[in-house]
Formats: sequence, C-alpha cells, structure tokens
Amino acid sequence: MSPVVKSTAFPIIKLKLPADLEGVKAGFLPEKLLKEIQPHGRLHWRAAESWEAMRQKALNDGVGFFKPTSSGDTYRSYESQEKGFRQRYQLEPIPNQSTRTFEGKKWYLKRGFAPMATPGGSNHNYGLAVDIHTASGDRLKWMQKNIVAFGWSWELSSEPWHIRLVTADEPTEAVKNYWASRG
Ligand SMILES: [Zn+2]
Repeated sequence: MSPVVKSTAFPIIKLKLPADLEGVKAGFLPEKLLKEIQPHGRLHWRAAESWEAMRQKALNDGVGFFKPTSSGDTYRSYESQEKGFRQRYQLEPIPNQSTRTFEGKKWYLKRGFAPMATPGGSNHNYGLAVDIHTASGDRLKWMQKNIVAFGWSWELSSEPWHIRLVTADEPTEAVKNYWASRG
C-alpha cells in the first residue's frame, strides 16, 4: 500500500515505529538504541543511518548548513522535553493563546514562544525527528525534492523545519545504496 500523502508541498506520511521501540517509553530510549549524528545530536540508530545518507547527499549537492538547529533538536529525553515545555507554557490562563494538556491540566503558551509538544508527546522523544536549521529558501526546496527518498517526511505543514523518519525498519533504496557504497 502506498503511503498516505496529505500535502504535496510538504508530504505528510504516517510514521511507523522501528520494532525495537515497541514498548519503549518516549523520552527514555536506552543508550544502545541511540547513535551520534553529524554535526551534532543523537538519533535512534535507524534515523541516524538515514540521516547520514541524506546529509551526504545534501553535501554532494552543495546545500550549505544542512544540520539540526542544535543538538537539542534531535533526540530529546523526557527530562529535556519537560524542561523546554515548562519554559514555554504556564498554568495561568492567557487569552487567545494555544494550549496543551499535560498532567491533567491545561497549559497556556507564553507570548513570544513557539509551540512545543508535551513531554513524551513528540517524535523527538523517540529519536526519530530532527529540526533542520533554517528550513527555508534553497535548503527547503532541496528538502522538498529529496527527504522522502531517504524515508523522511513532515509532520505538520506549518512546521517546515520539523521532519521525522517514517520508514521504521525498511530503509529506502537511497539509504541502502549509500551504505552499500561504503562497503
Ligand atoms: Zn521538531
């Protein structure tokens, strides 16, 4: 069955979890499932292997600064997601601000902050998501042309920087070819 694509500008494909993440609590990945990526950050090893192949293609194509915004924009532990969430949201109501439900309470986004998923509610907590540094202009055009071939897709069309690996344990041809070429 072909994947469900909801947006042509930013294809949104349903994410499948790698088998070794079944039963793992989001934000509590064992070290053995995590792998360092270039130039900074950590991802689930499936996402890390695909990241390396995709980044090499970007370098070959002359795309500058194709990288996560920071190491905190790759895998996030539950603890770091909670820290970020508590910086951005408050319990005291703010009119017309977006809200999230966490620990059974309604939280309000502080003015001037970007929305963030609740702790454990983000694909960053599974090590499957990356926020790309300045996803706009030529870099975004390159992403629109290339990321799906490496098994990535967007999650929300309003967040062009946030991409996640959707292919679980079935690397795409482009990823397999990259690793085969490395011997
Ligand atoms: Zn993100």
